[in-house]
Amino acid sequence: MRRKQIVIVTIIVAAIFAWAYFDLGSYLQLEAVQRNIGDLRAWYGDNPLLSGLIFFVVYVVATALSLPGAIWLTLAGGALLGFWTGLLLVSFASSIGATLAFLVSRTLLRDWVQSKFSRYLSAVNTGFERDGAFYLFSLRLVPIVPFFVINLVMGLLPIPARRFYWVSQLGMLPATAIFVNAGTQLGELDGLAGIVSPALWLSFALLAIFPFIAKWALAQIQMRRKLAAYTRPSRFDTNMVVIGAGSAGLVTALIAATVKARVTLIERHKMGGDCLNTGCVPSKAVIRSSHIAQYMRRAQEFGLEQVPVTVNFREVMQRVQSVIEAIEPHDSVQRFTELGVDCVQGDATILSPWEVEVDGQRITTRNIVIASGARARVPDIPGLDKLDYLTSDTLWDIRDLPARLLIVGGGPIGCELAQAFSRLGARVTLVSHAARVLPREDEEVAAQVMAAFQREGIAVHCGFEARRFQRDEQGQSAVFQTPDGEQTLAFDRVLLAVGRTANTEGLGLEALGIAVNTNGTIEVDETLRTSIPTIYACGDIVGPYMFTHMASHQAWYAAVNALFGRFKTYKVDYSVVPWATFTDPEVARVGLNESDAIAGGIPYEVSRYDIDDLDRAIADGEAHGFIKVLTAPGSDRILGATIVAYHAAELITEYVMAMKHGIGLKKILATIHIYPTLSESNKFLAGEWRKARKPEKLLNWVAKYHRWSRG
Ligand SMILES: Cc1cc2nc3c(=O)[nH]c(=O)nc-3n(C[C@H](O)[C@H](O)[C@H](O)COP(=O)(O)OP(=O)(O)OC[C@H]3O[C@@H](n4cnc5c(N)ncnc54)[C@H](O)[C@@H]3O)c2cc1C
Repeated sequence: MRRKQIVIVTIIVAAIFAWAYFDLGSYLQLEAVQRNIGDLRAWYGDNPLLSGLIFFVVYVVATALSLPGAIWLTLAGGALLGFWTGLLLVSFASSIGATLAFLVSRTLLRDWVQSKFSRYLSAVNTGFERDGAFYLFSLRLVPIVPFFVINLVMGLLPIPARRFYWVSQLGMLPATAIFVNAGTQLGELDGLAGIVSPALWLSFALLAIFPFIAKWALAQIQMRRKLAAYTRPSRFDTNMVVIGAGSAGLVTALIAATVKARVTLIERHKMGGDCLNTGCVPSKAVIRSSHIAQYMRRAQEFGLEQVPVTVNFREVMQRVQSVIEAIEPHDSVQRFTELGVDCVQGDATILSPWEVEVDGQRITTRNIVIASGARARVPDIPGLDKLDYLTSDTLWDIRDLPARLLIVGGGPIGCELAQAFSRLGARVTLVSHAARVLPREDEEVAAQVMAAFQREGIAVHCGFEARRFQRDEQGQSAVFQTPDGEQTLAFDRVLLAVGRTANTEGLGLEALGIAVNTNGTIEVDETLRTSIPTIYACGDIVGPYMFTHMASHQAWYAAVNALFGRFKTYKVDYSVVPWATFTDPEVARVGLNESDAIAGGIPYEVSRYDIDDLDRAIADGEAHGFIKVLTAPGSDRILGATIVAYHAAELITEYVMAMKHGIGLKKILATIHIYPTLSESNKFLAGEWRKARKPEKLLNWVAKYHRWSRG
């Protein structure tokens, strides 16, 4: 405990002790106040300033220490000082005292409560940061929740002290006036019931819901104002138009059709979008071929005769297409039509909040969901436009393996493809402007991947900034600015993997004034609504997590909020977001890693399990990597997990599940895991956490007991 906290606790304990010892509470009983009212009034008449000051100080101290009796003090204020003076002093004293109690609670308890219950509080915190004043105002208007409870609880939540003060002062005013007024009649009062009638309670309750009604009305007015410039069709062809049939659009349309809405899905290129045609599916298919090639090179390790590994690149790329074709039916027009979705082929443009045009055809719709995705970013580097560069959008069309492949970009896509193409026989050079590959992951994670790359002969250059591309008689090359001056790297093909650009062009966003973020994604609120109330957006066009699973996660919110938002809206839950990079070893993560925790000043403890000890990994010849789990200090609550291992992306699910449903490491440790599996490593990690927290003192006594029991 810090000094400040010790002083506050000492003062509170002393005050409560004095309160109890001198039985001060008895002076605040109604009868006591009524009995002494004559004397008190007389004394006030003789010393108005001094008695007013004493009353004020006593009120502030009593409320600051959360001592009982605030109601009786308020009544006494009315009885002693009269209505207006009583109201003035009680109003300020109660607000100041409440703010002091709020600050006491904040100083003593907030950090502890927020760190212990951060998982449960994150939604409350976000809500409070936005609407805390509304909630507080409502609670203050209805004096049902005890005054001191509100002060103490608010101290734990993210509402600034100044805002707490003025909202309390305003919100408590009606009730204070009623109680002070009742105090002026103290002689006739026979209890609290005489002060407020059921009608008065009802009006308090109505006052309390007033802020919410006002907020809703304001939102309606804003919405009408934004839509006022457009003519609303008298009836609509469909309930929802979805633009883009990638992961986000397909799931949005599916959900809309499932809840019996009429939905039109517009796709200008290929059903399935990026993931099926140029992203997850082809990349994982090519990684699989490269993995098999790598195992073949390791044949002797497994007691097999070494055979020459000859890669038929054309066949590999053909297999990639076959995999796409095998999955295509899941995302096809036929399947979605059977599911009740109207599928339209064409380029969509939004004409108004209720109208979409596709190849000359106008569709009127109640709502629109933009799911137009993203494409590979092509940086503006001199000379690049003169080359036949590759991106993840065009890579899948090549049929000849480049002898020397230069990959620009050290993120997940660059790393996955660098290793895959290297294993298929290309001489790969990976260049990144960042200090390391996979810069979002912890340094030791990137180091493991780098080590694997170096072992396999991939040249990795970090801190290299591309300056220009050139082609001359010697071939193609790129010039990079490096910490040691300019360096030129020659290549046969260059693959750009430097990020993704949102597909906003041609949608009609500018004409409608739909706000776009600085990184080019569409700006949405927590319900995925754009700045036009009838238009929602989800998937890569929105970000911030550009993954297929996040596109479909968001799709549910976009569909439900667009269709049913007039009754209830849902804010997207980003509390537990996992992802993986499919290198060998795989890198999977959920929640915080050490770099994020340090950057955010979040306290944590680390548990680690090295997979080189795991029986199944040894049997599989994959005994490398580690699991690192961050927990809240003094607790088994998981803040985040990173796995660098063979099948890390599968192993992480146990932590995703645990975090999502509030399961701690103790429960993972108590769960039976099949032997011998890779998933046992999660149990062993939990065992490491437990081992580091052994009750040593107790175990010393247990050892003594065993010694004694042996005689
Ligand atoms: C190489 C690579 C590997 C990846 N690997 C993974 C992975 O392993 N795991 C993972 O989770 N994610 C991965 N991703 C990311 C994943 O592919 C995307 O996050 C996901 O596809 C986004 O889906 P979406 O629906 O938002 O966009 P998209 O899939 O891009 O779909 C948008 C669709 O909208 C259409 N469209 C755009 N504008 C219009 C218009 N005006 N009218 C009509 N149609 C329009 C487009 O043609 C497109 O089909 C990878 C990406 C790449 C590039």
